[in-house]
Amino acid sequence: MFDKILIANRGEIALRVLRACKELGIPTVAVHSTADGDAMHVRLADESVCIGPPPAKDSYLNIPSLLAACEITGADAVHPGYGFLSENARFAEILEEHGIDFIGPSPEHIRIMGDKIEAKRTAKRLGIPVVPGSEGGVSSNDEALRIARDIGFPVLVKAAAGGGGRGMKVARTEADLSSALATARAEAKAAFGDDVVYLEKYLQRPRHIEIQVLGDGRGRAVHLGERDCSLQRRHQKVWEEGPSPALNASARDAIGETVAKAMRQIKYRGAGTVEFLYEDGAFYFIEMNTRIQVEHPVTEMITDIDLVLEQIRVAAGSDLSMEQKDIKFHGHSIECRVNAENPVSFRPSPGRIAHYHTPGGLGVRVDSAVYQGYLIPPYYDSLVGKLIVHGKTRTECLMRLRRALDEYVVDGIETTLPLFRALVREPDILDGQYHIHWLEQFLARGGMDS
Ligand code: ADP
Repeated sequence: MFDKILIANRGEIALRVLRACKELGIPTVAVHSTADGDAMHVRLADESVCIGPPPAKDSYLNIPSLLAACEITGADAVHPGYGFLSENARFAEILEEHGIDFIGPSPEHIRIMGDKIEAKRTAKRLGIPVVPGSEGGVSSNDEALRIARDIGFPVLVKAAAGGGGRGMKVARTEADLSSALATARAEAKAAFGDDVVYLEKYLQRPRHIEIQVLGDGRGRAVHLGERDCSLQRRHQKVWEEGPSPALNASARDAIGETVAKAMRQIKYRGAGTVEFLYEDGAFYFIEMNTRIQVEHPVTEMITDIDLVLEQIRVAAGSDLSMEQKDIKFHGHSIECRVNAENPVSFRPSPGRIAHYHTPGGLGVRVDSAVYQGYLIPPYYDSLVGKLIVHGKTRTECLMRLRRALDEYVVDGIETTLPLFRALVREPDILDGQYHIHWLEQFLARGGMDS
């Protein structure tokens, strides 16, 4: 096992990783920017190192600083969390070159899955169904038009290097295509420094369903069921739940096994998520995330498996602590991402938390790194905390979520708590009848105005 783990992240995920390390008895090193000196992950870690000024590019994304922090503290492994350097193959490689273990998949797998065109190609080769679209990047508008006519409008122009919903534009008709291409290319260039785009059939009412996997890097891999992340705003997940209200056990087993088999074939190591759109009973691969995801607690609640602990164990060369037959699903779980944003305009609302009270009781978990008096810095994401609830049935889970949301108090800043209090009373949500456009339609018809 590792002697000391450096956590190359901040906020709730740094705390989440720290908790797993503590339970494994592994000393931790927190890193922080000058804006995060008072952060919870810094206070709770065994050691901490300041790695630079507030902008992420000078601190949390600063590879030389992180390497120096490893060297000073003698950390022999790095957990990257999510975001920042978690899907940076070069970072994983550099750590390896310095004899430090990266708690995640091989640089090769990160690289393949980080390029969405390459990822789709790989998925197809491994027998995973993909969204119909261009075979690779589209170079000219003429070629794009030919392909779009072939797959049929509407089409979605997507950035090969995409992430966070950026570089994605819908073309509903032939007339829209050239401007969608130009905008997606420009956005991709600005966000990722790479303007390669590809085309996909734009699905009208799909759900976003993703499969959680764990692999040991030596050809053993299991799936841990699905999460339904269809409630999104601007392609960003807002509410996640598992199991999906749209899947039954046999559909789950079938897609889960297809994915687990693919992961065995490529000898995938660590935690990963294979994301699909699901429409009319069919799955279509969109991408794979080669890291722990924000919504991983949903799976932990319904399987009782600590995903971060498993990541650390397999990175250290241990076997997976379970086989597929050991994985049992029980009950239902929902996660709400509570952001420091106005619940109607979604304008960020950084500032000081004047009063803070978290809900508790049976089946309630809050993963958060904030506290009363904490000043949310303006430099990073706006996540205040994740409220995760578990119940024996979806109905019990929804009732528990409703009362937990009523208990949650965050004063001094605006948060998206009122949005969740409204959602948990919406008939479509209660019935599990929603798709990836539902939330934007709800907001557009003034669902939050009353
Ligand atoms: P990113 O990496 O930027 O998050 P994804 O490929 O994971 O991009 O897609 C994010 C979201 O965009 C999906 O969950 C879905 O809501 C929407 N989306 C992606 N591809 C399609 C498609 N072909 N048709 C309709 N919606 C899509």
